[in-house]
Amino acid sequence: MKTEEIITKTAALYSGPLTDETMEFLRGIARDYCKVKNYVYGRYSGIANVNRLTPVYSILNEMRCCGLRQQLNMPAVYYELAIAEAVGDIKGMWGMLKNKIRTLINENENLSEDDRLYLRTVLKINSTFAAVLNRQEYDMPDKVKDIELDVKRLNNLLCRLARRHLKTPKQQKADSFLVSPNGYRTDENGLYLTSRTPRRRVFIAVKGIADGNRQLRIIIRENSVKIVFPVDVEARKRKDYTNTVYAYIGYSDMLTLSNGNVYGKDLGSLVTPETERLSEKNKARGRIYATYAADKGRNREEIPENVIAAAGQKAGNESLKKKLEENNLGSKKYDAQKRRMREKTQNFINAELNRMFREEKPEKIVVTKPVTKNRAKNYSKVLNRKMSRSFRGYIRDQIAFKCRLNMVELIEISSKGTGSVCSNCGKEGKRVKADFICDSCGYRSTIAVNSARNIERIEKSGADQTADAD
Ligand SMILES: [Zn+2]
Repeated sequence: MKTEEIITKTAALYSGPLTDETMEFLRGIARDYCKVKNYVYGRYSGIANVNRLTPVYSILNEMRCCGLRQQLNMPAVYYELAIAEAVGDIKGMWGMLKNKIRTLINENENLSEDDRLYLRTVLKINSTFAAVLNRQEYDMPDKVKDIELDVKRLNNLLCRLARRHLKTPKQQKADSFLVSPNGYRTDENGLYLTSRTPRRRVFIAVKGIADGNRQLRIIIRENSVKIVFPVDVEARKRKDYTNTVYAYIGYSDMLTLSNGNVYGKDLGSLVTPETERLSEKNKARGRIYATYAADKGRNREEIPENVIAAAGQKAGNESLKKKLEENNLGSKKYDAQKRRMREKTQNFINAELNRMFREEKPEKIVVTKPVTKNRAKNYSKVLNRKMSRSFRGYIRDQIAFKCRLNMVELIEISSKGTGSVCSNCGKEGKRVKADFICDSCGYRSTIAVNSARNIERIEKSGADQTADAD
Protein backbone atom coordinates (compact mmCIF):
# COMPACT_ATOMS: atom_id res chain seq x y z
CA MET A 1 0.00 0.00 0.00
CA LYS A 2 1.25 3.41 -0.94
CA THR A 3 1.76 5.84 1.90
CA GLU A 4 1.31 8.98 -0.16
CA GLU A 5 -1.06 9.93 -2.89
CA ILE A 6 -2.14 13.18 -4.49
CA ILE A 7 -5.86 13.69 -4.60
CA THR A 8 -7.63 16.48 -6.42
CA LYS A 9 -10.52 17.98 -4.59
CA THR A 10 -12.82 20.84 -5.39
CA ALA A 11 -12.53 23.90 -3.23
CA ALA A 12 -15.07 26.70 -3.03
CA LEU A 13 -14.56 30.24 -1.83
CA TYR A 14 -17.06 33.05 -1.38
CA SER A 15 -16.42 36.70 -1.96
CA GLY A 16 -17.89 39.43 0.18
CA PRO A 17 -20.39 41.88 -1.34
CA LEU A 18 -19.09 43.34 -4.59
CA THR A 19 -19.67 46.74 -6.15
CA ASP A 20 -22.38 47.20 -8.78
CA GLU A 21 -19.71 47.89 -11.35
CA THR A 22 -17.92 44.62 -10.63
CA MET A 23 -21.18 42.67 -10.66
CA GLU A 24 -22.10 44.31 -13.96
CA PHE A 25 -18.79 43.19 -15.46
CA LEU A 26 -19.18 39.63 -14.15
CA ARG A 27 -22.77 39.34 -15.36
CA GLY A 28 -21.70 40.65 -18.75
CA ILE A 29 -18.99 38.03 -19.10
CA ALA A 30 -21.39 35.30 -17.97
CA ARG A 31 -23.95 36.50 -20.52
CA ASP A 32 -21.42 36.43 -23.34
CA TYR A 33 -20.02 33.12 -22.15
CA CYS A 34 -23.52 31.71 -22.43
CA LYS A 35 -23.93 33.21 -25.90
CA VAL A 36 -20.67 31.63 -27.07
CA LYS A 37 -21.68 28.25 -25.70
CA ASN A 38 -25.05 28.38 -27.40
CA TYR A 39 -23.38 29.44 -30.65
CA VAL A 40 -21.02 26.44 -30.42
CA TYR A 41 -23.92 24.13 -29.59
CA GLY A 42 -25.84 25.38 -32.60
CA ARG A 43 -22.94 25.13 -34.97
CA TYR A 44 -21.21 21.93 -33.89
CA SER A 45 -23.72 19.59 -32.31
CA GLY A 46 -25.00 18.29 -35.63
CA ILE A 47 -24.23 15.05 -37.41
CA ALA A 48 -21.67 16.67 -39.73
CA ASN A 49 -19.36 17.45 -36.82
CA VAL A 50 -19.59 14.27 -34.82
CA ASN A 51 -16.06 13.26 -35.79
CA ARG A 52 -14.51 16.70 -35.32
CA LEU A 53 -15.00 17.12 -31.59
CA THR A 54 -11.73 15.53 -30.46
CA PRO A 55 -9.26 17.17 -30.29
CA VAL A 56 -10.90 20.50 -29.69
CA TYR A 57 -8.28 22.50 -31.65
CA SER A 58 -9.92 22.47 -35.07
CA ILE A 59 -13.14 23.91 -33.68
CA LEU A 60 -11.17 26.32 -31.52
CA ASN A 61 -9.30 27.54 -34.59
CA GLU A 62 -12.50 28.08 -36.55
CA MET A 63 -14.04 29.91 -33.64
CA ARG A 64 -10.96 32.15 -33.35
CA CYS A 65 -11.50 33.40 -36.88
CA CYS A 66 -15.30 33.57 -36.99
CA GLY A 67 -15.47 37.10 -35.63
CA LEU A 68 -17.72 36.33 -32.67
CA ARG A 69 -15.06 37.13 -30.10
CA GLN A 70 -14.39 40.56 -31.63
CA GLN A 71 -18.10 41.21 -31.92
CA LEU A 72 -18.58 40.48 -28.22
CA ASN A 73 -15.31 42.15 -27.24
CA MET A 74 -14.63 39.16 -25.05
CA PRO A 75 -11.16 38.33 -23.70
CA ALA A 76 -9.79 35.04 -25.03
CA VAL A 77 -9.28 33.76 -21.47
CA TYR A 78 -13.08 33.42 -21.20
CA TYR A 79 -14.04 32.98 -24.85
CA GLU A 80 -11.90 29.91 -25.47
CA LEU A 81 -13.01 28.15 -22.33
CA ALA A 82 -16.64 28.71 -23.29
CA ILE A 83 -15.87 26.94 -26.57
CA ALA A 84 -14.02 24.08 -24.89
CA GLU A 85 -16.77 23.64 -22.35
CA ALA A 86 -19.48 23.64 -25.01
CA VAL A 87 -17.58 21.07 -27.09
CA GLY A 88 -17.27 18.93 -23.96
CA ASP A 89 -21.04 19.17 -23.49
CA ILE A 90 -21.65 18.17 -27.10
CA LYS A 91 -19.43 15.13 -26.60
CA GLY A 92 -21.41 14.30 -23.48
CA MET A 93 -24.61 14.64 -25.49
CA TRP A 94 -23.31 12.18 -28.11
CA GLY A 95 -22.26 9.80 -25.36
CA MET A 96 -25.79 9.83 -23.95
CA LEU A 97 -27.29 9.50 -27.42
CA LYS A 98 -25.15 6.44 -28.10
CA ASN A 99 -26.27 4.90 -24.83
CA LYS A 100 -29.86 5.58 -25.77
CA ILE A 101 -29.34 3.93 -29.17
CA ARG A 102 -27.66 0.94 -27.49
CA THR A 103 -30.71 0.46 -25.30
CA LEU A 104 -33.06 0.73 -28.28
CA ILE A 105 -30.96 -1.79 -30.20
CA ASN A 106 -31.10 -4.25 -27.33
CA GLU A 107 -34.86 -3.88 -27.11
CA ASN A 108 -35.47 -4.14 -30.87
CA GLU A 109 -36.77 -7.63 -31.58
CA ASN A 110 -36.33 -7.31 -35.34
CA LEU A 111 -32.57 -7.45 -34.99
CA SER A 112 -30.47 -10.61 -34.93
CA GLU A 113 -27.49 -11.04 -32.64
CA ASP A 114 -25.20 -10.36 -35.62
CA ASP A 115 -27.11 -7.18 -36.39
CA ARG A 116 -26.67 -6.04 -32.82
CA LEU A 117 -22.98 -6.90 -32.85
CA TYR A 118 -22.52 -4.77 -35.98
CA LEU A 119 -24.44 -1.82 -34.55
CA ARG A 120 -22.67 -1.97 -31.23
CA THR A 121 -19.30 -2.11 -32.97
CA VAL A 122 -20.13 0.93 -35.08
CA LEU A 123 -21.26 2.80 -31.97
CA LYS A 124 -17.96 2.04 -30.32
CA ILE A 125 -15.75 3.39 -33.13
CA ASN A 126 -16.54 7.07 -33.41
CA SER A 127 -15.00 7.60 -36.88
CA THR A 128 -17.06 4.73 -38.27
CA PHE A 129 -20.17 5.98 -36.52
CA ALA A 130 -19.57 9.44 -38.04
CA ALA A 131 -19.09 7.94 -41.52
CA VAL A 132 -22.32 5.98 -41.26
CA LEU A 133 -24.31 9.02 -40.15
CA ASN A 134 -22.84 11.13 -42.92
CA ARG A 135 -23.22 8.42 -45.58
CA GLN A 136 -19.50 8.32 -46.21
CA GLU A 137 -17.19 5.46 -47.17
CA TYR A 138 -15.63 3.55 -44.31
CA ASP A 139 -13.68 0.36 -43.67
CA MET A 140 -15.75 -2.42 -42.23
CA PRO A 141 -14.52 -2.99 -38.65
CA ASP A 142 -12.48 -6.21 -38.25
CA LYS A 143 -14.84 -7.59 -35.68
CA VAL A 144 -17.78 -7.76 -38.11
CA LYS A 145 -16.24 -7.86 -41.58
CA ASP A 146 -16.72 -11.62 -42.05
CA ILE A 147 -20.37 -11.60 -41.04
CA GLU A 148 -23.08 -11.44 -43.64
CA LEU A 149 -25.26 -8.46 -42.90
CA ASP A 150 -27.79 -6.17 -44.51
CA VAL A 151 -25.51 -3.23 -43.85
CA LYS A 152 -27.67 -0.73 -45.72
CA ARG A 153 -30.70 -1.52 -43.59
CA LEU A 154 -28.70 -1.39 -40.39
CA ASN A 155 -27.05 1.89 -41.30
CA ASN A 156 -30.43 3.36 -42.15
CA LEU A 157 -31.71 2.31 -38.77
CA LEU A 158 -28.74 3.93 -37.06
CA CYS A 159 -29.23 7.19 -38.98
CA ARG A 160 -32.92 7.21 -38.17
CA LEU A 161 -32.34 6.63 -34.46
CA ALA A 162 -29.62 9.26 -34.29
CA ARG A 163 -31.81 11.86 -36.04
CA ARG A 164 -34.81 11.10 -33.93
CA HIS A 165 -32.99 11.40 -30.60
CA LEU A 166 -30.42 14.05 -31.42
CA LYS A 167 -30.88 17.14 -29.30
CA THR A 168 -28.98 20.35 -29.52
CA PRO A 169 -27.81 21.31 -26.03
CA LYS A 170 -28.88 24.73 -24.89
CA GLN A 171 -27.70 26.85 -22.03
CA GLN A 172 -30.46 28.92 -20.47
CA LYS A 173 -28.76 30.35 -17.45
CA ALA A 174 -25.97 32.84 -17.76
CA ASP A 175 -24.84 32.51 -14.16
CA SER A 176 -21.30 31.18 -14.31
CA PHE A 177 -18.17 31.08 -16.42
CA LEU A 178 -14.69 29.59 -16.47
CA VAL A 179 -11.46 31.57 -16.39
CA SER A 180 -8.27 30.07 -17.77
CA PRO A 181 -5.10 30.24 -15.63
CA ASN A 182 -3.71 33.13 -17.66
CA GLY A 183 -6.92 35.05 -17.13
CA TYR A 184 -6.19 35.94 -13.53
CA ARG A 185 -3.54 36.60 -10.96
CA THR A 186 -3.71 36.64 -7.21
CA ASP A 187 -1.98 38.36 -4.34
CA GLU A 188 -2.57 38.55 -0.60
CA ASN A 189 -5.61 40.81 -1.13
CA GLY A 190 -7.51 38.76 -3.62
CA LEU A 191 -8.12 37.93 -7.23
CA TYR A 192 -7.52 40.08 -10.31
CA LEU A 193 -9.49 39.08 -13.39
CA THR A 194 -8.79 40.07 -16.97
CA SER A 195 -11.26 42.75 -18.02
CA ARG A 196 -12.50 43.83 -21.44
CA THR A 197 -10.09 46.75 -21.37
CA PRO A 198 -6.45 45.82 -22.04
CA ARG A 199 -4.15 46.18 -19.04
CA ARG A 200 -7.04 46.75 -16.67
CA ARG A 201 -7.98 44.11 -14.11
CA VAL A 202 -11.15 43.62 -12.12
CA PHE A 203 -10.47 43.03 -8.45
CA ILE A 204 -12.39 40.61 -6.25
CA ALA A 205 -11.55 40.46 -2.57
CA VAL A 206 -11.38 36.76 -1.83
CA LYS A 207 -8.55 35.01 -0.08
CA GLY A 208 -7.16 31.55 -0.50
CA ILE A 209 -6.69 31.13 -4.24
CA ALA A 210 -3.13 30.18 -5.02
CA ASP A 211 -1.62 31.57 -8.18
CA GLY A 212 -1.22 28.65 -10.46
CA ASN A 213 -2.33 26.65 -13.39
CA ARG A 214 -5.90 26.04 -12.36
CA GLN A 215 -9.09 27.01 -14.12
CA LEU A 216 -11.51 28.90 -11.94
CA ARG A 217 -15.27 28.74 -12.20
CA ILE A 218 -16.92 31.97 -11.20
CA ILE A 219 -20.49 31.44 -10.07
CA ILE A 220 -22.56 34.58 -9.86
CA ARG A 221 -24.79 35.13 -6.89
CA GLU A 222 -27.01 38.03 -5.88
CA ASN A 223 -24.22 40.55 -5.18
CA SER A 224 -21.21 38.31 -4.69
CA VAL A 225 -19.51 35.33 -6.29
CA LYS A 226 -18.64 31.78 -5.43
CA ILE A 227 -15.34 30.62 -6.87
CA VAL A 228 -14.79 26.93 -7.46
CA PHE A 229 -11.45 25.42 -8.40
CA PRO A 230 -9.53 22.17 -8.04
CA VAL A 231 -6.78 21.81 -5.45
CA ASP A 232 -4.32 19.02 -4.91
CA VAL A 233 -4.11 17.57 -1.46
CA GLU A 234 -1.82 14.89 -0.23
CA ALA A 235 -3.52 11.84 1.13
CA ARG A 236 -1.99 10.80 4.39
CA LYS A 237 -2.26 7.77 6.55
CA ARG A 238 -2.54 8.64 10.20
CA LYS A 239 -0.67 6.41 12.60
CA ASP A 240 -3.29 6.66 15.35
CA TYR A 241 -6.12 5.63 12.99
CA THR A 242 -6.35 1.94 13.86
CA ASN A 243 -10.04 1.17 14.43
CA THR A 244 -12.61 -0.59 12.29
CA VAL A 245 -15.89 1.26 12.03
CA TYR A 246 -19.15 -0.46 11.07
CA ALA A 247 -21.61 2.16 9.92
CA TYR A 248 -25.26 2.16 8.96
CA ILE A 249 -26.24 5.03 6.67
CA GLY A 250 -29.74 6.02 7.71
CA TYR A 251 -32.62 8.22 6.66
CA SER A 252 -33.05 10.17 9.88
CA ASP A 253 -29.64 9.93 11.57
CA MET A 254 -26.85 10.07 9.01
CA LEU A 255 -24.49 7.46 10.46
CA THR A 256 -25.08 5.00 13.26
CA LEU A 257 -22.12 2.88 14.26
CA SER A 258 -22.18 -0.59 15.75
CA ASN A 259 -20.74 0.86 18.98
CA GLY A 260 -23.87 3.01 19.23
CA ASN A 261 -22.29 6.34 18.32
CA VAL A 262 -24.31 8.57 16.02
CA TYR A 263 -23.00 11.21 13.60
CA GLY A 264 -25.26 13.58 11.74
CA LYS A 265 -28.09 13.22 14.21
CA ASP A 266 -31.48 14.18 12.80
CA LEU A 267 -30.15 14.89 9.34
CA GLY A 268 -33.53 13.66 8.12
CA SER A 269 -35.41 16.40 9.94
CA LEU A 270 -33.03 18.99 8.57
CA VAL A 271 -33.69 17.77 5.06
CA THR A 272 -37.34 16.78 5.15
CA PRO A 273 -39.45 19.89 5.82
CA GLU A 274 -37.53 21.91 3.28
CA THR A 275 -37.39 19.22 0.64
CA GLU A 276 -41.08 18.64 1.06
CA ARG A 277 -41.86 22.29 0.70
CA LEU A 278 -39.71 22.49 -2.41
CA SER A 279 -41.20 19.32 -3.74
CA GLU A 280 -44.71 20.82 -3.38
CA LYS A 281 -43.58 23.87 -5.25
CA ASN A 282 -41.92 21.73 -7.84
CA LYS A 283 -45.14 19.85 -8.41
CA ALA A 284 -46.99 23.07 -9.14
CA ARG A 285 -44.24 24.18 -11.47
CA GLY A 286 -44.15 20.77 -13.09
CA ARG A 287 -47.87 20.88 -13.87
CA ILE A 288 -47.57 24.24 -15.55
CA TYR A 289 -44.56 23.18 -17.57
CA ALA A 290 -46.21 19.91 -18.50
CA THR A 291 -49.38 21.61 -19.75
CA TYR A 292 -47.41 23.79 -22.05
CA ALA A 293 -44.96 21.07 -23.09
CA ALA A 294 -47.75 18.69 -24.04
CA ASP A 295 -49.34 21.44 -26.07
CA LYS A 296 -46.20 22.18 -28.06
CA GLY A 297 -44.54 18.80 -27.93
CA ARG A 298 -41.45 20.20 -26.32
CA ASN A 299 -39.34 19.41 -23.33
CA ARG A 300 -39.77 21.57 -20.27
CA GLU A 301 -36.07 22.43 -20.27
CA GLU A 302 -36.57 24.13 -23.61
CA ILE A 303 -39.30 26.44 -22.44
CA PRO A 304 -38.26 29.87 -21.27
CA GLU A 305 -40.01 31.40 -18.25
CA ASN A 306 -41.65 34.20 -20.19
CA VAL A 307 -43.22 31.73 -22.60
CA ILE A 308 -44.72 29.85 -19.68
CA ALA A 309 -46.13 33.07 -18.30
CA ALA A 310 -47.55 33.84 -21.73
CA ALA A 311 -48.98 30.35 -21.97
CA GLY A 312 -50.78 30.84 -18.70
CA GLN A 313 -52.14 34.11 -20.01
CA LYS A 314 -53.17 32.74 -23.36
CA ALA A 315 -54.99 29.87 -21.78
CA GLY A 316 -57.04 32.51 -20.04
CA ASN A 317 -56.21 30.75 -16.84
CA GLU A 318 -56.21 33.63 -14.43
CA SER A 319 -55.42 31.53 -11.38
CA LEU A 320 -52.48 29.97 -13.15
CA LYS A 321 -51.17 33.35 -14.15
CA LYS A 322 -51.66 34.62 -10.63
CA LYS A 323 -49.84 31.63 -9.25
CA LEU A 324 -46.94 32.28 -11.54
CA GLU A 325 -46.68 35.90 -10.55
CA GLU A 326 -47.56 35.85 -6.89
CA ASN A 327 -45.91 32.68 -5.74
CA ASN A 328 -42.89 33.41 -7.81
CA LEU A 329 -42.65 30.10 -9.50
CA GLY A 330 -39.95 31.57 -11.66
CA SER A 331 -36.70 29.69 -11.41
CA LYS A 332 -34.56 32.39 -9.86
CA LYS A 333 -35.91 32.46 -6.33
CA TYR A 334 -36.57 28.75 -6.34
CA ASP A 335 -33.00 27.99 -7.37
CA ALA A 336 -31.55 30.32 -4.76
CA GLN A 337 -33.57 28.67 -2.00
CA LYS A 338 -32.65 25.22 -3.19
CA ARG A 339 -29.00 26.16 -3.38
CA ARG A 340 -28.89 27.67 0.10
CA MET A 341 -30.61 24.64 1.56
CA ARG A 342 -28.27 22.27 -0.25
CA GLU A 343 -25.18 24.13 0.92
CA LYS A 344 -26.38 24.20 4.50
CA THR A 345 -27.07 20.48 4.46
CA GLN A 346 -23.78 19.64 2.79
CA ASN A 347 -21.87 21.67 5.38
CA PHE A 348 -23.58 19.79 8.17
CA ILE A 349 -22.84 16.44 6.53
CA ASN A 350 -19.18 17.32 6.07
CA ALA A 351 -18.71 18.63 9.59
CA GLU A 352 -20.25 15.49 11.06
CA LEU A 353 -18.20 13.17 8.84
CA ASN A 354 -15.04 15.00 9.85
CA ARG A 355 -16.01 14.61 13.50
CA MET A 356 -16.55 10.89 12.92
CA PHE A 357 -13.07 10.49 11.45
CA ARG A 358 -11.53 12.52 14.29
CA GLU A 359 -13.28 10.67 17.07
CA GLU A 360 -13.46 7.12 15.75
CA LYS A 361 -9.99 7.14 14.16
CA PRO A 362 -10.85 4.50 11.56
CA GLU A 363 -8.36 2.38 9.69
CA LYS A 364 -11.23 0.65 7.95
CA ILE A 365 -14.89 1.60 7.44
CA VAL A 366 -17.51 -0.98 6.57
CA VAL A 367 -20.86 0.10 5.11
CA THR A 368 -23.48 -1.60 2.96
CA LYS A 369 -23.55 -1.24 -0.81
CA PRO A 370 -26.06 1.30 -2.08
CA VAL A 371 -29.41 -0.21 -2.98
CA THR A 372 -29.49 -0.35 -6.75
CA LYS A 373 -32.29 1.82 -7.88
CA ASN A 374 -33.60 1.99 -11.40
CA ARG A 375 -33.19 -0.62 -14.14
CA ALA A 376 -36.53 -2.10 -13.16
CA LYS A 377 -39.24 -1.40 -15.71
CA ASN A 378 -41.92 -0.23 -13.33
CA TYR A 379 -39.52 2.02 -11.58
CA SER A 380 -41.09 4.85 -9.66
CA LYS A 381 -40.21 8.44 -10.35
CA VAL A 382 -41.21 9.44 -6.84
CA LEU A 383 -38.68 7.02 -5.42
CA ASN A 384 -36.02 8.44 -7.67
CA ARG A 385 -36.74 11.94 -6.46
CA LYS A 386 -36.65 10.82 -2.85
CA MET A 387 -33.37 9.04 -3.36
CA SER A 388 -31.70 11.91 -5.12
CA ARG A 389 -32.97 14.44 -2.61
CA SER A 390 -32.10 12.37 0.43
CA PHE A 391 -28.43 13.22 0.17
CA ARG A 392 -27.43 9.61 0.58
CA GLY A 393 -25.46 9.68 -2.65
CA TYR A 394 -23.68 12.78 -1.47
CA ILE A 395 -22.94 11.19 1.92
CA ARG A 396 -21.49 8.11 0.25
CA ASP A 397 -19.35 10.21 -2.08
CA GLN A 398 -18.02 12.23 0.83
CA ILE A 399 -17.25 9.11 2.87
CA ALA A 400 -15.38 7.65 -0.09
CA PHE A 401 -13.48 10.89 -0.62
CA LYS A 402 -12.52 11.27 3.04
CA CYS A 403 -11.41 7.65 3.09
CA ARG A 404 -9.08 8.29 0.18
CA LEU A 405 -7.82 11.45 1.83
CA ASN A 406 -6.99 9.65 5.08
CA MET A 407 -6.00 6.41 3.34
CA VAL A 408 -8.75 4.56 5.14
CA GLU A 409 -9.97 1.33 3.61
CA LEU A 410 -13.65 1.47 2.63
CA ILE A 411 -15.50 -1.81 2.39
CA GLU A 412 -19.01 -2.13 0.98
CA ILE A 413 -20.85 -5.31 1.82
CA SER A 414 -24.24 -6.50 0.60
CA SER A 415 -27.10 -5.14 2.68
CA LYS A 416 -28.73 -8.58 2.64
CA GLY A 417 -29.60 -9.68 6.17
CA THR A 418 -28.65 -6.39 7.80
CA GLY A 419 -32.19 -5.10 8.23
CA SER A 420 -34.56 -7.79 9.43
CA VAL A 421 -32.21 -10.15 11.26
CA CYS A 422 -31.46 -9.82 14.97
CA SER A 423 -27.82 -8.84 15.46
CA ASN A 424 -27.78 -10.65 18.80
CA CYS A 425 -29.12 -14.11 17.91
CA GLY A 426 -29.46 -14.14 14.13
CA LYS A 427 -33.21 -14.87 14.07
CA GLU A 428 -35.80 -12.76 12.26
CA GLY A 429 -36.92 -9.81 14.35
CA LYS A 430 -39.62 -7.15 14.17
CA ARG A 431 -39.26 -3.57 13.08
CA VAL A 432 -41.64 -1.24 14.82
CA LYS A 433 -41.22 2.35 13.64
CA ALA A 434 -37.57 3.13 14.41
CA ASP A 435 -37.15 0.22 16.83
CA PHE A 436 -35.95 -3.30 16.37
CA ILE A 437 -37.41 -6.00 18.62
CA CYS A 438 -36.37 -9.64 18.74
CA ASP A 439 -38.94 -12.00 20.26
CA SER A 440 -36.50 -14.91 20.21
CA CYS A 441 -33.82 -13.51 22.51
CA GLY A 442 -35.41 -10.32 23.78
CA TYR A 443 -32.88 -8.01 22.14
CA ARG A 444 -34.12 -4.46 21.64
CA SER A 445 -32.47 -1.50 19.97
CA THR A 446 -33.06 0.93 17.17
CA ILE A 447 -33.17 -0.36 13.59
CA ALA A 448 -30.06 1.71 12.90
CA VAL A 449 -28.00 0.18 15.73
CA ASN A 450 -29.19 -3.32 14.91
CA SER A 451 -28.25 -2.81 11.25
CA ALA A 452 -24.81 -1.47 12.13
CA ARG A 453 -24.24 -4.43 14.46
CA ASN A 454 -25.31 -6.76 11.66
CA ILE A 455 -22.80 -5.13 9.33
CA GLU A 456 -20.14 -5.86 11.96
CA ARG A 457 -21.33 -9.44 12.44
CA ILE A 458 -21.49 -10.20 8.69
CA GLU A 459 -18.14 -8.58 7.94
CA LYS A 460 -16.45 -10.42 10.81
CA SER A 461 -17.96 -13.79 9.91
CA GLY A 462 -16.85 -13.21 6.30
CA ALA A 463 -13.32 -12.53 7.52
CA ASP A 464 -13.46 -15.69 9.67
CA GLN A 465 -14.49 -17.77 6.71
CA THR A 466 -11.60 -16.48 4.69
CA ALA A 467 -9.30 -17.34 7.55
CA ASP A 468 -10.79 -20.82 7.76
CA ALA A 469 -10.28 -21.35 4.04
CA ASP A 470 -6.58 -20.66 4.49
ZN1 LIG B 1 -32.44 -12.03 18.84
